[in-house]
Amino acid sequence: MTPPKIYGLIGYPIKHSLSPLMHNAAFSYLKISAEYRLFPLLKESLEDFLISLTQNNIHGLNITIPYKEMVIPFLDDLSDEARLIGAVNTIKVSGGDRLEGFNTDGEGFLKHLAGDLGFNPQDKAIAVIGAGGAAKAVCVCLSKKKPKAINIYDLDKNKAALLARNLKTNFNGIEFKCADSIGGLNIGKCDLLVNAAPVGMKETDPCLVDAKFLHGRLMVYDLIYNPKETRLLSLAKEKGASVSNGLGMLLYQGMLSFKIWTGQDAPKEVMQKALLGAL
Ligand code: NAP
Repeated sequence: MTPPKIYGLIGYPIKHSLSPLMHNAAFSYLKISAEYRLFPLLKESLEDFLISLTQNNIHGLNITIPYKEMVIPFLDDLSDEARLIGAVNTIKVSGGDRLEGFNTDGEGFLKHLAGDLGFNPQDKAIAVIGAGGAAKAVCVCLSKKKPKAINIYDLDKNKAALLARNLKTNFNGIEFKCADSIGGLNIGKCDLLVNAAPVGMKETDPCLVDAKFLHGRLMVYDLIYNPKETRLLSLAKEKGASVSNGLGMLLYQGMLSFKIWTGQDAPKEVMQKALLGAL
């Protein structure tokens, strides 16, 4: 009997990931002989792991913190989207040992924001906290929808500046700026605030945004999905803003990765049920 194909997630730390639940539920529902596993990897093991995927019967991977950019030099090909974003969250092993990189984070985010939540980014003023892998994907996909402006703040000012510069090079007619502080994001004048920094994942984490900046015309999207409601989201709700956590993004990015690996449409309800059951 042929052994099940292996898929999985690499990153560190990853023990709380919900991806195995969602993908294994989909494999089982569609009767695909495959298994999704967690591969917590230290940096020094990354190269050895990636060059022995075929040998280990691994057919596809998701990538998370801190490897989304680090895997790129090991890939044979990059999708246009992954190249534009500069980060990879999905690898497909094809034609023996050829590694192709994709990024489904931004599209997953947009499917949830624009599709399910009905927020159209066109002509909107947007503030983004964080300029890491997820922020890059979110900013690129938002930029495709022609917002009026995107203002980015990251603790690391160089990261924010690099992201803004990359966006300026690739998208015309949008005002891209970097802020020196959360206050400098001008959230009071924004339509959408995206938290793409990991602050809020731990119970002891502070709310990065002062209540005085939040308002009722704002949509606040926190990429964090565990806890379901971060301090930022609960404060924003109190101030009358519309809010969403990142569970919908997790679902859609996973569905898009599933399609890339298997060629089959991912079973949305099955995967959603698995995620909701775990939270
Ligand atoms: P990342 O590459 O490490 O980027 C996070 C960025 O946030 C870093 O540039 C970091 O700066 C910055 N940052 C940290 N603390 C900050 C603060 N107080 N103020 C401003 N910026 C700050 O991580 P990522 O992959 O982009 O992930 C970010 C978050 O999105 C995580 O919570 C992750 O779980 C979530 N995420 C969710 C989904 C989903 O499907 N819902 C998908 C992807 C990611 P330094 O490097 O200087 O620390």
